[in-house]
Amino acid sequence: MDGIPKGNPMMTSRGCGFLAAWVCAWALTVAGCATTPYRYGVTPPSGIVTADMLRPGEPQFERGKPQPLIDGIGWLVGIPSKIILWDIRADNHSISEETEAALRRYLELNDLDQVKVRLNQYAPLDEWRRLTRNRAVGWGWRYTFGVFSWLHYTLLPGRIFGGDHYNPYTDTISLYSNIPAVALHEGGHAKDFAGRRWRGTYAVAYLLPFFALYPEALATGDAIGYLRDQQDAEGEREAYHVLYPAYATYVGGNLASHIVKFSWTYYAAVIPGHIVGRWKGSTVPRRAPDGGAEGHRWNGGDEAKNLEPAHLGSVP
Ligand SMILES: [Zn+2]
Repeated sequence: MDGIPKGNPMMTSRGCGFLAAWVCAWALTVAGCATTPYRYGVTPPSGIVTADMLRPGEPQFERGKPQPLIDGIGWLVGIPSKIILWDIRADNHSISEETEAALRRYLELNDLDQVKVRLNQYAPLDEWRRLTRNRAVGWGWRYTFGVFSWLHYTLLPGRIFGGDHYNPYTDTISLYSNIPAVALHEGGHAKDFAGRRWRGTYAVAYLLPFFALYPEALATGDAIGYLRDQQDAEGEREAYHVLYPAYATYVGGNLASHIVKFSWTYYAAVIPGHIVGRWKGSTVPRRAPDGGAEGHRWNGGDEAKNLEPAHLGSVP
């Protein structure tokens, strides 16, 4: 490992662990809070050149064909994610209709009708088409970082390696986990980018040290704010339980890469993420404000039944 400090490693390690835990707990309490009052939709900056990203008749959501062997390998490869998020549905490569409906409703209510959603799907050719077509991102970014991002997607398929993410160069959400809160978080990234003028610059800035904490907090805050506005108490609680430790991995990852160069700093940061997430989840009222029984509204109830969730260059 690079940069391991000299001296008493036990003391140094312990001190770094406390530092990571405290920084993480602090970051979680000031970032990733619910966006309230929640604002639906995005006002795109004037002068942005956009093209219809979906072909006529093309479905916004597509699902990869089940491949038991490949998906089984992917499930095993995703065991660390399951442990870190403490959720068996992480990278399980089997996305339910409920999760799909939750993201579909989110995108519809936020007017994000050109975002592509791939549910456990590997589609490099179509992703290349979207990359070349996405004029909302400057070509200078698309044909450099965007191509790297596409190569990463193509050579390290998410169907094996997992990793839910939003790719701003192709405006595509790829999901491999069956966790509605994670799906909404990726939708939050799509919404964040849709409101920006300098999308390519913003995407590349994500790679800078600690910058990712900002868009990650926005996406998590948007997902939780949305669930609160939808009065989905159970969904909001679940979002705290999953998205807070997920956010902690960014705090820990950046600390481990740039400040406290112990690889396990990354994992140490997850523990306060779970603690703060559980605490925040416990503060969600048990009953909806209207006095009705709480429950999942991932599918948006009857109304939604008529409506049909750290990679290079993409936003996990
Ligand atoms: Zn994210």
